[in-house]
Amino acid sequence: MDVDFTQEQTMFRDIVRDFCEREITREYVRECDREHRPPRELYDKLGAQGWLGINIPTGYGGSGGGAVEVAILLEELGRAFLDLSFWVFRAVTWGGLTLGRDAAESVKEEFLPQIADGSKTVCFALSEPQAGSDAASIVLSAVEDGDDYVLNGQKVFTSGFKASDLVVVATRTSSEGRKHHGITNFLVDTDSPGISYTGIETLGHWPLGTAQVFFDDVRVPKDRMLGELHEGWADLGVYLRYERLCLSAARTGAAKAALADSIEYSHQREQFDRPIAKFQAVAHRLADMQVLTEISEMLVYRYASRLDRDIATVRDAAILKLYACDAYKQVADMGLQVLGGYGYTMEYDLQRHYRESRLGVIGAGTSDIQRNIIAKTMGL
Ligand SMILES: Cc1cc2nc3c(=O)[nH]c(=O)nc-3n(C[C@H](O)[C@H](O)[C@H](O)COP(=O)(O)OP(=O)(O)OC[C@H]3O[C@@H](n4cnc5c(N)ncnc54)[C@H](O)[C@@H]3O)c2cc1C
Repeated sequence: MDVDFTQEQTMFRDIVRDFCEREITREYVRECDREHRPPRELYDKLGAQGWLGINIPTGYGGSGGGAVEVAILLEELGRAFLDLSFWVFRAVTWGGLTLGRDAAESVKEEFLPQIADGSKTVCFALSEPQAGSDAASIVLSAVEDGDDYVLNGQKVFTSGFKASDLVVVATRTSSEGRKHHGITNFLVDTDSPGISYTGIETLGHWPLGTAQVFFDDVRVPKDRMLGELHEGWADLGVYLRYERLCLSAARTGAAKAALADSIEYSHQREQFDRPIAKFQAVAHRLADMQVLTEISEMLVYRYASRLDRDIATVRDAAILKLYACDAYKQVADMGLQVLGGYGYTMEYDLQRHYRESRLGVIGAGTSDIQRNIIAKTMGL
């Protein structure tokens, strides 16, 4: 695929790809999935490589890369192990981007180097039981008390919480006026007194998992506020658009893996005295999967490059998220069909792609919401 990488970016992609081929075996991925176990050993190795701080400025222990480098890393990791890529996406989005942009200087100095080396992990809590697509209707409250804010309420679908030291929490600090006003984001220690959580059983995303998190008089120092008091909604928009890049890049990598497995199987499996790849119905399905994957890749790097040039629009992010997540879902579905009954068994990885791909069109803004955003930018 001829994405216009610089020589350094091509080298970086080759190094990450080589690392994944050497370090991430199919059996290891299956084991973490089966056991609902975060791939801690691998995460630590990524920290040692310096890749968890890929978008953290060098002055804070990172390597100061841009959005294209982030996309390359997440795509390659997503091809090898989607949940690992999601874990890294959290470091780059809620760490590198969010803290790097909006945390107090002392908080950056304390935490960014630790996020870069993997010794601190971070996740994100926006969704609440009554606030899903309508995220601005959150009610978890943060009330000023001396040198702290005191948080009370509940979050839902806080992914990766069980493996995180820190969580970026969107709170309600004012109920005056429009619901988009009065939202403030905080960086909170997950082991703060007053926090408890329970896991949620889901169709996929098993290694990192997702959880309901309860806040009961949780004290958070004032200097852990991210950005301005009451003005967190606009910042969330920036974070969520970056999240769209990360999740789309990871899923594009996963779609490539599902496609590769399907092609390989189609050459090996024989029916009616020939490999099934020789049947036009199967070959066309694989051709459609190729098209979906290539267009996703083009959109990922179009958006990443626009972010780096500071010309990315809200519509670009929504088109990318809508297309790439739906493409992975279609590729996984078609790939499972190529494998027939074997695709439906736990012996092959297509079932995992099929389960994992379903989340893409729901999480981080459903496909309906992406279409709403695109339509709005069209004046509709
Ligand atoms: C496994 C998993 C992991 C997640 N991880 C996180 C996380 O780490 N942090 C976090 O904060 N959240 C997380 N989420 C939450 C996720 O972002 C929400 O599930 C998603 O935004 C949709 O909200 P909802 O589930 O409440 O659905 P709802 O908003 O109730 O939507 C239900 C249906 O109605 C449709 N709908 C709603 N409003 C509109 C509208 N205006 N126009 C058209 N259709 C509409 C939706 O498209 C959907 O089909 C996660 C969710 C899952 C399942």
